[in-house]
Amino acid sequence: MFPSGICSIADFEPPVAFFFAVEGLYFSHKASIWTRFAILFPMKLDVHDAKILEILQKDARTSLKDIAEEAKLTPPTVSSRMKSLEELGIILGYHVDIPPDSLGQRVMFFVLKAKPADLEEAAEALARISLVREVHLASGGRIIAVAVLRDVSDQERLTNEMARIPTIQEYDNYSVVKVKKRENWAIVAEGVDVSLACYYCRKPIQGTPYKIRLGGRDHYLCCPICEKAYKEKYAKLEAGAQKKPTKD
Ligand SMILES: [Zn+2]
Repeated sequence: MFPSGICSIADFEPPVAFFFAVEGLYFSHKASIWTRFAILFPMKLDVHDAKILEILQKDARTSLKDIAEEAKLTPPTVSSRMKSLEELGIILGYHVDIPPDSLGQRVMFFVLKAKPADLEEAAEALARISLVREVHLASGGRIIAVAVLRDVSDQERLTNEMARIPTIQEYDNYSVVKVKKRENWAIVAEGVDVSLACYYCRKPIQGTPYKIRLGGRDHYLCCPICEKAYKEKYAKLEAGAQKKPTKD
């Protein structure tokens, strides 16, 4: 594959290749050996994936046939690209959009403060409250949370539950009076950088991903621990899949 030490672009395979690797050989004079190297470069969202995401973002129930037609692809290609986008954690789900006000519910925004050392814990405690629908760790040691309330008793319950979180120092809250715009957050466009999620822990991968080849495709992990756990999980799943067809 690397006959002359000239760099070659490898692993650039459709349908979704978010990283490409420049691989080659270099000669180490110290050790007097040729050594293989690979550098992974982050890829950008390509025009087809951007189109598929844009269509799904508008209506997640658009049929494969209609997506294929609009994106000028074949339905199997669309299906395979969607599967890859799911595996990469770019598509997390296909949800029903129910505006809370259509059910007579009130939305409240909270800006909460905690000590830097307590931020994670406070955010996790908040996230456990069922009335709290979104929790974001923000800059400046703040947590931004969104809660939805059905009635006055919900408001009381929420206030009580928040008061029971000792790591929250103080908070401001704002009731939403009118919604002027409410859109899906991600801005989909061709050329947007793709932040890859670890296939095992689903957290965004910082730096160069650990790439392993399983079942004829690339899988990306964030660290050696996830790599090991993922390999084990994959082997178990594969063993299970092989067992299924034979009845015993
Ligand atoms: Zn991970």
